[in-house]
Amino acid sequence: MEKVDDKKLLRVIQFAPIIIIFVATLVIVGVMIRENRIAAQQSLDSLKNEYIEQQKEQIQNQVDHIVQKLEYEKARTEVELKRQIKARVYEAHAVAEGIYQHNPNLPKDELTNLIASALRNVRFNNGHGYFFMYQMDGKSMLLPPLSHMENSNRWDNQDNRGAYFVRELASVVADKGEGYHRWWFYKPQDINTEYEKIGFVKYFEPLNSFIGTGEYVVDFEEDSKAEILRWLSEIRYGASGYVFVVDKNGVILAHQDKYAIGEDRYNFRDVNGNYFIRDILNAAKEGGKGGGFVHYSSVFHPTSVTSTEKISYVRWFDDWDWAIGTGVYLSETDSLLKRKEALLMTQDEKELMNVLILSACVLIVIGGGALVLSRYVAEKFRNFQEKINRNFYELLSTKNQMQHMALYDSLTDLPNRIQFNQVVRRAIKDADVTGLSVAVILVDLDNFKKINDLYGHSAGDKLLGVVSRKLEVLLDKSEAISRFGGDEFIFCFPNLIRDSDVQEKIHRIQKVFDEPMIIDGRKVKTSCSIGVASYPRDAMTAEELISNTDIALYRAKNRQKGSVLFFDSTIAQQVEYEFVLEEQLRGALSRNEISVLYQPQMNSQTAKIVSVEALCRWNNNCLGAISPVEFIAVAEELDLIHDIGVFVFRQACTDILSFSPNGPDAVKLSVNISPVQLKLPHFSDEIREIIRDVGIDICRITLEITENVLVEDLEAVSPILQELKDFGFGISLDDFGTGFSSLSYLNNLPINEIKIDRSFIDKILLSEQSRSLVKAIIAISESCDMHVVAEGVETEKQFNWLVEHHCDYVQGYYFDKPLSVHVLKERYGEPA
Ligand code: C2E
Ligand code: MG
Ligand code: MG
Repeated sequence: MEKVDDKKLLRVIQFAPIIIIFVATLVIVGVMIRENRIAAQQSLDSLKNEYIEQQKEQIQNQVDHIVQKLEYEKARTEVELKRQIKARVYEAHAVAEGIYQHNPNLPKDELTNLIASALRNVRFNNGHGYFFMYQMDGKSMLLPPLSHMENSNRWDNQDNRGAYFVRELASVVADKGEGYHRWWFYKPQDINTEYEKIGFVKYFEPLNSFIGTGEYVVDFEEDSKAEILRWLSEIRYGASGYVFVVDKNGVILAHQDKYAIGEDRYNFRDVNGNYFIRDILNAAKEGGKGGGFVHYSSVFHPTSVTSTEKISYVRWFDDWDWAIGTGVYLSETDSLLKRKEALLMTQDEKELMNVLILSACVLIVIGGGALVLSRYVAEKFRNFQEKINRNFYELLSTKNQMQHMALYDSLTDLPNRIQFNQVVRRAIKDADVTGLSVAVILVDLDNFKKINDLYGHSAGDKLLGVVSRKLEVLLDKSEAISRFGGDEFIFCFPNLIRDSDVQEKIHRIQKVFDEPMIIDGRKVKTSCSIGVASYPRDAMTAEELISNTDIALYRAKNRQKGSVLFFDSTIAQQVEYEFVLEEQLRGALSRNEISVLYQPQMNSQTAKIVSVEALCRWNNNCLGAISPVEFIAVAEELDLIHDIGVFVFRQACTDILSFSPNGPDAVKLSVNISPVQLKLPHFSDEIREIIRDVGIDICRITLEITENVLVEDLEAVSPILQELKDFGFGISLDDFGTGFSSLSYLNNLPINEIKIDRSFIDKILLSEQSRSLVKAIIAISESCDMHVVAEGVETEKQFNWLVEHHCDYVQGYYFDKPLSVHVLKERYGEPA
């Protein structure tokens, strides 16, 4: 499950960056495309607006330009008119002058008639131009269209604006001789309407008159206007641009469509039902010189028969009551914009394409980079993971090793106690079901310590390994072995039916030790002691079973090395007793339970007391009186011997001094010294101090050392004894004969006395061998200047024999048992 998750994580590390970059690029590109589209639409809209504004500005300029042109044309028309009428008047004046020159003396009336006749029929300006002639006082001399008014004085005539135009003409002439003047006058063919006229008059001196002509401005302009309208109708620009002129009545005056010219469109409606001509007129009039825009549906598209949307700019030309305009067809704008849009789109697409290519390149570069990086990271991750796995496996194997160490013995690789206990527990459970028994056998190698000392600890370890392998192979599946500690191996044999089954197992184990073990190419022979306990006979639990097996082994070893001991209830009782004994012994001194008795030693020749042996006693509330043979050994084991020994020594010295003061005949004192005490570094200092304290002579004190101890540890003990002897103590070899029993080394020992063990004295009357030994001891001690004490003299016969064979001193029940100091004093108060 973990591995799958790791793989997923690896995949995520590898591909997530590239996917993120890809998606991010897509999003960015998408946003860019969208922004691009919006910007394109906005620029298109603004382009459209700009274009329309531009078009509107253009058509406005166009119209403004035309209006300027019209104003110019109008102005130019007047100049031309003035030039023409002046030229005409000059011609007429020249004619009149010519007539006068030819007839200088002709009466004025005739001359007037002559000149009038000459000029009367002259017509110009499309036939409506004529000459008039007035006398300076206002009398009409020539007025062709209104000849009935000739010879009448027109001095007071007013035009319909109230001006005395004849007077004003005369005034111009009177002032400058000639000149232009404007006035209003009806037309001959239309006497109801007055039209503005512009005229030129020139003084004709012979008749004190002036000749002039006038032209209706309107007539002259009509020509010019027609000319201009033709020109306007011809104007084209752009695809369908043209100029139109509509008069105030809605009649079309100029247009690209020649059929439309002259049409009254005042009541004409466009497709939307609007009177668009009226709109045009209104916009033009309302806009005044500023003009105005009109939006309408036009039917006059040069190339389209259907009506199209149009915006026109129109301006009112006040002088001629014209609405002049030009416009743009929105359809053209649209199509242009569409082209622009298409162009923009193409550009956009190109730009977009560039962006996409750039994005793709960026994507490839960054994506590639990310892929490389993510692969690198994934690789690192994989390495890291492998490292973790390695560490994990190392940890696991360490854990397994530790578990193994927790359950197996490191030296022999046999299951350890913990595991063994479990095996025994299981076996007991099974036994409860099967009804069979479980035997636990504890095997201890005899003399293992010696092997260690002889060949070294590594050889000892190897021996344990070899023994383990040999013992291991004895087992079948259900059986178990464990190293119990040190040189002990413990077996669990379940499913046993008979006692003989256990015997057979023991036999097989013992057989392993028949042959010597090969250690470092050396043959090492060893034996074993065995303790056995069985379930359910000897114990109820695994712990108890193992513990009882241990007890059995301990007892077996105590009894004899190489022996086999089956646990039984007496052993248990013994162990329990020892336990209590130990417990009680610890507090014995403090409870004053230890006391000292004194057994006299008699001079065999005089049968008088020469010395006493201090023998300690322990009287306990629970256990009663316990023999020193028993508790001294326990005290040695528990390290209590020194305290007890010191107590006994001080007590004995005190008691004996009180019993027998120092002096040449003073009764001597023998005190038993444990070898443990003897080896303590300050032992001699301590006892010498006690002697000083008590004040007893040192020469009265003999220290009894058992022969066994001396022989076992001769090298260590000998110098100590020598030192003590040198201080003045007597040294006695106690229980002689029970140890090495070699008489040869007695010479070299720092001793003054030999105490023959009771067991020999017992037998001197029965055994020749004992008698020989006692005799030999007495002989040697004589030769070594030592005296001999016989212990355990119980009978007279024994005593007599010893006397007969010159044993120096005797001690035993024959004389006295160990006595308290009071009894001693009572009995031996007056020492001999
Ligand atoms: P041991 O030093 O050989 O003492 C002689 C033992 O023989 C004493 O036993 C004594 O009561 C006993 N005995 C003496 N005469 C006879 C006899 O005629 N017949 C029999 N059956 N026994 C006789 P006890 O007092 O039980 O002492 C036993 C041993 O305990 C002593 O043997 C000595 O080795 C040790 N011991 C006693 N007191 C002390 C002590 O204060 N310190 C040390 N280190 N050992 C002591
Ligand atoms: Mg003794
Ligand atoms: Mg003795």
